[in-house]
Amino acid sequence: MPKLEQSIESIIADATASYGIKRWGNGFFEINQQGQVAIVNRKHPEQGSLSLLQVIHGMQVRELHMPVLLRIENIIDQSIRELNEAFAEAISKVEYRGAYRGVFPIKVNQQAHIVEEIAHFGSRYQHGFEVGSKAELIAALASTTCTESLLVCNGYKDKEFVDLALQASKLGTPCFLVIETPAELPIIIERSRALGIEPRIGVRAKMMSKVGGYWNSTSGDRSVFGLSSAQMIQVIDRLKEHDMLHCLQMLHCHLGSQIPNIRDIRAGVSEACHYYASLCKEGASMSHIDLGGGLAVDYTGAHSQDGQSRNYSLSEYCEDVVDTIKATLDSYALPHPTIVTESGRATVAYSSILLFNVLDVTRFEALPMAAGRDEKHDLIDNMREILEYLKPERIQECYNDAHYYRDELRELFKRGRIGLRLRAIGENLFLDVLSQIKAVLENMEQLPTELEGLDDSLADIYYGNFSLFQSLPDSWAIDQLFPVMPVHRLDEKPDRHTVLADITCDCDGKIDRFIGAHGAKKTLPVHSLKDAEEYYLGVFLVGAYQETLGDLHNLFGDTNVVSIRLNDDSSFEFVKEIHGDSIADVLEYVEFQPANMKLRFRDKVEAAVKDGRISAQERQQMINSFNASMQGYTYYEKDV
Ligand SMILES: *Cc1c(COP(=O)(O)O)cnc(C)c1O
Repeated sequence: MPKLEQSIESIIADATASYGIKRWGNGFFEINQQGQVAIVNRKHPEQGSLSLLQVIHGMQVRELHMPVLLRIENIIDQSIRELNEAFAEAISKVEYRGAYRGVFPIKVNQQAHIVEEIAHFGSRYQHGFEVGSKAELIAALASTTCTESLLVCNGYKDKEFVDLALQASKLGTPCFLVIETPAELPIIIERSRALGIEPRIGVRAKMMSKVGGYWNSTSGDRSVFGLSSAQMIQVIDRLKEHDMLHCLQMLHCHLGSQIPNIRDIRAGVSEACHYYASLCKEGASMSHIDLGGGLAVDYTGAHSQDGQSRNYSLSEYCEDVVDTIKATLDSYALPHPTIVTESGRATVAYSSILLFNVLDVTRFEALPMAAGRDEKHDLIDNMREILEYLKPERIQECYNDAHYYRDELRELFKRGRIGLRLRAIGENLFLDVLSQIKAVLENMEQLPTELEGLDDSLADIYYGNFSLFQSLPDSWAIDQLFPVMPVHRLDEKPDRHTVLADITCDCDGKIDRFIGAHGAKKTLPVHSLKDAEEYYLGVFLVGAYQETLGDLHNLFGDTNVVSIRLNDDSSFEFVKEIHGDSIADVLEYVEFQPANMKLRFRDKVEAAVKDGRISAQERQQMINSFNASMQGYTYYEKDV
């Protein structure tokens, strides 16, 4: 039967399904008719979407070279809107008689632009901040514009921290000091006396509810956070002694981040409500229940209770939270408190994309090679003969034989019995045989189990212009999966499978688990590289936790960062750009002094001129390139 030409529409539909962009993209991304990943214009879909390739072209003109971290402001706005509207809907649906106030935990992305955008857009919902240190408190105080927004202070607080928070409340900001350890209480009492400002106090409960997922050690007896029940009673009694029990107004808890299972959330909220009710009963003037973070991001798009997914939607989450609080507190006949959540991951994950170009590829296939007459060997002949008996029924045998002959050749090389050229011919032939085996397997219904991994073991390695350690630390540290895909050429059928290596030359600097249509897989479908045309890949959903956890492995520094805003007509603007670290910057981070280094290099080349090893002209060229490199980007710069 002649092969039918596949239509472009159906190639794009296949790509949409195989990369899963609709499943993990939360409606923010799509593949457009030109086969490019595009940002959906949610407000005015009729205006079409914004192609990432178009954004990349705009970056090129502005000399913002790859890799670039792209932030999309509208997505931050949209995430805050959705969270607040989903809670508002849940509140009206279950007839809850209290409000919702969201706060953004700054630790999830402390970049000034993100914090400022959240403060700016969030003000319409009185969306505030959660801070865990003095530095974060200062960032929040300087960024908030809306005085009604909450400020929740967690973390260990010293006198200075407490003073700042108390002064903020004097400005009108509802600022809660959440007690994490009993030692903080005397400081709060003393400072509020000294400054004459009444504090709003919260207590953080040590939660017993266990949650699934990757970040689940924040609960249980041995949790390092929160007060035990006995410590909580101590705090209450001490506040009573000082006639300050009315200052205790908030119950705070945090079950952990990325909670995949909605049942765990329900259980945790219910536990928190019992704490809340007990504090009311002790006589505190309770008004707020803060449930911390935990709202998960469906990184894999599987909608499951796997650690990188979630088995609930945003509206289910909100309804479950509101409904559980209502039901539990109604049973105590208590008024409904203001519900606070500290969603970080779900608020910012979608807004950032890491974009990079591919520098090179290694293919596991035979290279063209001229075989001389002298390079003859029985093992090579044997290997060649495999091709004569290669049939489906003998496929396992062929596979085993090829390995056997190759290993024998390697053994001989190790003992000095054959040369490099012969070994290369043998290994080349081996790859030829494997690719023919692979071709036979493609037409077989049932694969021998041993051969199931053959495809993966022959996958290409694409070398990407990025550092995993700098830009995707969780991918390295905790094997987190992020959606990765080419951002263009998706109207062409992918013809290669690959794993990705970064440019750190560290064997851990690779991505070899990807999100497939049916769970994780070891390779990513990609397109063959073309001469003189860049190939761009994007890593999506990297807005949470990745930016400041990254490190300077091999001295690859911060990437360029570009923020864009999509207009109603799907045009866009570059609203902010930050050039990444220069080589001089990263050297300074590790205490080198670029100015001194330049002087020392100058002395070195001047000495070479004196010794007659180089000319004065060559000296100047060397100094020029040394100085230019110092100011250059730490990543691979292609000549343009
Ligand atoms: C980390 C943290 C959060 C953020 O959690 P997400 O799961 O990212 O929403 C919220 N509150 C506290 C106290 C945290 O430590």
